Amino acid sequence: MNALGSVPPPGRDPVSGNPYPLGLRLAGRRVVVVGGGAVATRRVPALLDAGADVLLVAPELTPALRAHADAGRLHWVPRRFAPDDLDGAWLVQVAVDDPIAAASVSAAAAERRIFCVRADDRAAATAWTPAVTRHGPVTVAVLGGGDPRRAMSVRDAVRDLLTARIEPAATGAAAGAAAGRVALVGAGPGDPELITVKGWRLLTAADVVVADRLVPGLLLDELRADVELVDASKIPYGPARAQEEINRILVDRALAGRFVVRLKGGDPYVFGRGGEELLACAAAGVPVTVVPGVTSSIAAPAVAGIPVTHRAVAHEFTVVSGHVAPDSPASLVRWEHLAGLRGTLVILMGLKNLAEITATLIAHGRPAATPAAVVQEATTGAQRVLRSTLASVAADVAGAGLRPPAVVVVGDVVPVLSPGAVGGPAD
Ligand code: SAH
Repeated sequence: MNALGSVPPPGRDPVSGNPYPLGLRLAGRRVVVVGGGAVATRRVPALLDAGADVLLVAPELTPALRAHADAGRLHWVPRRFAPDDLDGAWLVQVAVDDPIAAASVSAAAAERRIFCVRADDRAAATAWTPAVTRHGPVTVAVLGGGDPRRAMSVRDAVRDLLTARIEPAATGAAAGAAAGRVALVGAGPGDPELITVKGWRLLTAADVVVADRLVPGLLLDELRADVELVDASKIPYGPARAQEEINRILVDRALAGRFVVRLKGGDPYVFGRGGEELLACAAAGVPVTVVPGVTSSIAAPAVAGIPVTHRAVAHEFTVVSGHVAPDSPASLVRWEHLAGLRGTLVILMGLKNLAEITATLIAHGRPAATPAAVVQEATTGAQRVLRSTLASVAADVAGAGLRPPAVVVVGDVVPVLSPGAVGGPAD
C-alpha cells in the first residue's frame, strides 16, 4: 500500500459514473473548512444553517467569517492546514486557491475516507456542492454535470416554479382540514416587487386571500383562479364592525381547514390592526404566522430620496399616526413632546390634520423652517413628492392637491441627499 492506501489518487479521476445525491444531516457533526476567503465566506453560512460543527482552518479570515468566529458560531484555527485537522470530521470543504495546499487536504481526506469538496478543482473533488433553493421544508439541489452555470439556471427555473406552484398542494386545501391557519402578511408599500420572498411564497399558497385597500393590485392579479379573494375594503358597516367582520372571516375560513392569507399594506403591525387580528385568531385557536413587510413609513421617504436617519443629521426617527387631531381627547400622541425632538418625524395618515399638526409642532418649539416633504402613493406609478417646510407644508399640500395615502416627513434629513431642493416646487 502506498501512503493513500487503496484509494485512487485524487484529482486524476475521469468523470466516471453519475454523482449520487444525498442530503447530509450535519447537525452537531464536524465539518472542516480550509480557507478563510471569499469562497469560504459563501460556503460557511449553509453549513451553520445545517447545524454543523464547523472548524475553520485559515491564517486569516474575511470580516464576515471573523464575525462568525467572534460570535462563537464556529471554531477558528488561525494557521495553515495540517492533516490532523481532519480527525473526527465527516466532511471537508477546500476553499483555497493554492493547488498544492488543496491537494494536501484532498490526500488527508482520502486517507481518512472523508468526502472532500474542492472549490478550486471539481475533477479532484470527491463530492460536489449543488446549486440549492429552499422553500419551507423543501430543498432542491441541482448538479449541472460539471457546469455550475447550468446548475444555477436550472435551479432558478425550479425556484420560480416552486414559488408559483408547489405550495398549494402542500399547505392548501389538499392537505385537509388540519391545515387551517392564517398568515398575516405585509404586502409592502405598493410596488408588487416589495413583498418579501416569504410573503410571496405564502400568498401563492393561499386558499383564501383577504386584502386591504392599500395592497398592490398587481399582487392579486397573479393569484390562482380558484383562490377566494375577499376585498376587506368593500366590507360595509363602519370601521369597528368591518374589523369584526374581517376577524370573523379569517377565523371561519381557517376553522374550515383553509389556508388564509391576510394581506396588509406595508407592515402588518404598523397602524395595520394586525395585532387585533392575531388576537382574534388566537382566541379561536387558529394558528397564525406573521410575515413582516416593508413599511411605507421608511420606504416612502426612501424612494423620495430621504433617508430616515443620516450620520450627523438624525439619530432617531419617530413614526406617528396623524389620524386623530392633536387637540382631540382621543389622541394618544404627545405632540408637544414630539416638537422637542431633533430627529426625523414620519407622519402616517396625516394629510387631513396636517395644518393642525404642523401648527402644534411649531407652537411647541420645532423650528418653522424645518424641512418637510410629502410622498403620495410611494413606490407606485402614481408617486408624487412635494418638498416644503414645516410652516408651509400644509398649504403646499392643499395647493398641489395631494391626497392619501401619503407619508409626511419632517426633519433635517429631508434635503440631505438633494441640498438644493429645500422648499422647492412640487415633484
Ligand atoms: N401598515 C402600513 C400603514 C397603514 S396606515 C405600512 O406599514 O405602511 C395607512 C397609511 O400608510 C396611509 O394613510 C399612508 O400614510 C401610509 N401609506 C401606506 N402606503 C403608502 C404609500 N404607498 N405611499 C405613501 N403613504 C403610504
